[in-house]
Amino acid sequence: MKNRGYKVTIQKFDPYLNVDPGTMNPYEHGEVFVTDDGAETDLDLGHYERFIDENLTKNSSITMGRIYKEVIEKERRGDYLGKTVQVIPHVTNQIKEKIYGFENTDTDIVITEIGGTVGDIEGLSIIEAIRQVGLEKNPEDVLYIHVTLLPYISGSNEIKSKPTQHSVKELQSLGIKPDILVCRTEMDIPDNIKEKLSLFCNVRKTSVIQNKTASCLYEVPLMLEKEGLAREVCNHLKLDNYVPDNSKWQEMIDNIKSIDDKNVVNIAIVGKYVKLEDSYISVIESLHHAGFANKVNVKVHLIDSEKITRDNVEEKLKGIDGVIVPGGFGNRGIEGMIETIKYVRENKIPFLGICLGMQMAVVEFARDVLNLKDANSTEFNEKTENPVIHIMEEQKNVKKKGGTMRLGAYPCIIKNGTLASKLYKSEQISERHRHRFEYNNDYRERLEQAGLVVSGTSPDGNLVEMVELKDHPYFIAGQFHPELKSRPNRPAPLFVGLVGACKKDK
Ligand code: GLN
Repeated sequence: MKNRGYKVTIQKFDPYLNVDPGTMNPYEHGEVFVTDDGAETDLDLGHYERFIDENLTKNSSITMGRIYKEVIEKERRGDYLGKTVQVIPHVTNQIKEKIYGFENTDTDIVITEIGGTVGDIEGLSIIEAIRQVGLEKNPEDVLYIHVTLLPYISGSNEIKSKPTQHSVKELQSLGIKPDILVCRTEMDIPDNIKEKLSLFCNVRKTSVIQNKTASCLYEVPLMLEKEGLAREVCNHLKLDNYVPDNSKWQEMIDNIKSIDDKNVVNIAIVGKYVKLEDSYISVIESLHHAGFANKVNVKVHLIDSEKITRDNVEEKLKGIDGVIVPGGFGNRGIEGMIETIKYVRENKIPFLGICLGMQMAVVEFARDVLNLKDANSTEFNEKTENPVIHIMEEQKNVKKKGGTMRLGAYPCIIKNGTLASKLYKSEQISERHRHRFEYNNDYRERLEQAGLVVSGTSPDGNLVEMVELKDHPYFIAGQFHPELKSRPNRPAPLFVGLVGACKKDK
C-alpha cells in the first residue's frame, strides 16, 4: 500500500496485562523493542519498522494492561461521573481511542494488529472494540483481515482447512465477518482447498490469500503482492489500485538471492538469553542486513556467556569470524562476556559491543590494561573500588526498576578520524538507548591514554556513547542499540562494518 502511494502506519494490541513489555523477561517474550520516542514495545514493532521502513511511536504498541491502567486512572479521577465502569463501553472506548487517535494525522491507512488468537479471554474486549469500529465507520473504511494457519499433514500429504473454518466461525460469533483470509502455509494451497475455504468461511475466493513460508523473510511482501492481497484491500476499501512501485524492494531481493551460498561469515552472539532466539531478534536481523550489504551469508551462532571461561574461550569461539556481545541486565554470564572480550581484543577478532557489551568492554580494558583488577559496573558490584561503569549522580534518586532508564533516541557526536566516523560518514547521528548505567568519566583520561578511544559522545560531551580500539582490525562498541534502526534496505553501519571486517575476500 505504501508503494501504491498511500501513507500507512501500523499499531499492535497485545492482550496481556503488563502495562508495557519493558519489564518482561526476554526468555518469555523475546527482545524488548524500543522506538525513537522511548516506548518499550513488543518485538513485532521491530518487524513492522523493518518491513515498512517507518519509525513508529508509543501509539503503535498497546497492551491491555495499559488500557486497564488508563481506565482505572480515569475512574479514580472521577472522569466517569459516578457511572458504573464496564468493559463495554469504557474499556472498548479506551481501545477505540487508540485506533481513532490516527484520524487527524497524516495517515491514509492504519493497520491494527490484534495479538493472540481468536477466542482468547484477554483479547475479547479488543475484538469487541474493532467490531464497534466497523459499526461506527463507513463500510468502505473498515476491513477485517483474519490470519489463520493451514496445517500440513505429511502422512496423508494434505492441507487441513478445518482450523480456519473453526476460527472464522468463532470470529463470526463475536460479530466480525472477515473480508480477507491470509492463510499461513508450508505448501501451495490447492485450488479445491481455496474453494472450500471460500465457501465455508463466506469469503470471496479472490480474497483467500496464500501466505507461504519463504526462504527469505523479506520476500514475503512481494509474494503477497503476487497473491493479490493489496488488490483485494483496495477493492474492499474502495481505494484506487495504483500500480505499486516495488522495484527497489525487488532489487534488494534479487541482490540477496544472488549471494553465493558458499560465501559464509560466522558471527557469534555471546550473551545470556541464548535459549530463545527471539531475545536477539533485531541483532540477528541486523547481521543479515549487513550480510546483504556485504554480499555474504551471515551464519549466526548463539553462545551462552555463562558457559565461557578463560580456559575454554578459544575452544568455544573456534571457527568464529566475529563476535557481538549484546545488551542485557543482571549478573549472570557477565564474567564469560569479559573473557570473550579479552580474547577477541588480544587475538584481533572483529568485535562489536552493544550497550552491556560496551560496558563490559570498558570493564575488561580497565581490568587488563589499566590493571584495575576489581574494575566493574556498579550494577554487578556496588562496592567496587573502581566503578568504571556507574549510575550518574543526577540519576541516583530515580534508581528503581521500570521507567527510569535512558530510553529512546539520543544524538551522538562522532569524533573525526575514528573508525566510528568512517562507518557512519556523519558527524552527528541518532541512536536508540535502553539502559541505566553509564561510562564513568573519572576514568576517561586513563582509559583513553591507554588506548580505548572515545569516538562518540552526547552533544555536551558528558556521556560517552562509543568507544573503540586503534590497533585492532575492528573493535568498536556503543552504549546504544544500533540494531533497533537497522533495515534490510538501510543496514546499520556498525553491523556492516563488523561483517565487512570478517569477510575472507576483503
Ligand atoms: N544493564 C545495563 C544497564 O542498565 C545494560 C543495559 C542494556 O544492555 N540494554 O545500563
